[in-house]
Amino acid sequence: MLPIRDCVRQTPGYVPGEQPQTTDYIKLNTNENPYPPPHEIFNNLEEELKKVRLYPDPVSTNLRKVAGEVFGFSHEQILAGNGSDDILNIALRTFVNPGETVAFLDPTYSLYETITRVHGANIKTISTNENFELDGPLICPSAKLIFLASPNPPLGKHLNRQYLKETCEKATGVVLIDEAYVDFSDENHWEFIKQYNNVLVSRTMSKSYSLAGMRVGFAIGSLEIIEQMNKVRDSYNLDRIAQILGANCFQFQEYFQGIWKQVISTRKRLTTSLKKLDFLVFDSDANFVLASPQWIDALELYTKLKDKKVLVRYFKHPRISNYVRITVGTDAEIDRLLEVIEQLKNESPNLRVKSKIS
Ligand SMILES: *Cc1c(COP(=O)(O)O)cnc(C)c1O
Repeated sequence: MLPIRDCVRQTPGYVPGEQPQTTDYIKLNTNENPYPPPHEIFNNLEEELKKVRLYPDPVSTNLRKVAGEVFGFSHEQILAGNGSDDILNIALRTFVNPGETVAFLDPTYSLYETITRVHGANIKTISTNENFELDGPLICPSAKLIFLASPNPPLGKHLNRQYLKETCEKATGVVLIDEAYVDFSDENHWEFIKQYNNVLVSRTMSKSYSLAGMRVGFAIGSLEIIEQMNKVRDSYNLDRIAQILGANCFQFQEYFQGIWKQVISTRKRLTTSLKKLDFLVFDSDANFVLASPQWIDALELYTKLKDKKVLVRYFKHPRISNYVRITVGTDAEIDRLLEVIEQLKNESPNLRVKSKIS
């Protein structure tokens, strides 16, 4: 037998949303930004490509400086990651010994569970209430690390701010607030970093800055936390191109703010339209909505949409087995989605009758 660690053998592994290698799908399944970055970000790429023989800047200095200007922190309080998933892993390896405890909500971003299991740490989950929200602060004295996403997937709403604050206040370990979707809302948690030295915020350029394919994320925290995490990361964790394109994107704040506004306005329209089509829909602070069709099984809806070349996300998780998660696409994409759903809905009573007869 190969010496595979038990915790690895016993972990099913993370199941990412489908990434079809054809372009004929309307892709509303992995919360990518539907709008491309400005083409100017590719202007100085040629020069950079000529340097591929050389290792990149190991500490992503320029990218962190530019990020610092946008976030309002010194670059010394910022660590760059190969996507924010890298940041989550670095945090685990910095703060948690195998056998110690990591806490997070259920349901939430499912990668927290995968990486914690692979790390050989124990998991303590706290169930959200029937509205997928917190009923109080998350208290887990044994946790060396608490992962909390706000907005929290799959619901997409910010966690209650007071409960989050109390969680930070009472935690004996580190609290990592995952702000992957924060740019699609009007609040963030910078003040918690300033108030509590055990709070770390993670950010990603995958969603709001249209760079999912480049893998750029950040950790922002106290000098001490960042200094320790810096020893744990891979020594060249961001390649040259990622560093350049990340820094370039940050130069186009107005462009991206315009996109975020557009996504928010399309999200409102999507939410209202789905309600009219007899879905249970939660209001979202992110670039996706969680919705439960009241006239068809969610898995069946997912499958039928896929047949019509519209990809949404379905999760096997028992709490959300009758929901689909829909990424906010362009207006045209959402129009097409709604059109297909309406067709399916019109056909559905007939289908039900048929299945009853057979
Ligand atoms: C998408 C997502 C991430 C991962 O972002 P990357 O930077 O692409 O690795 C992290 N956390 C949450 C909650 C996400 O939804």
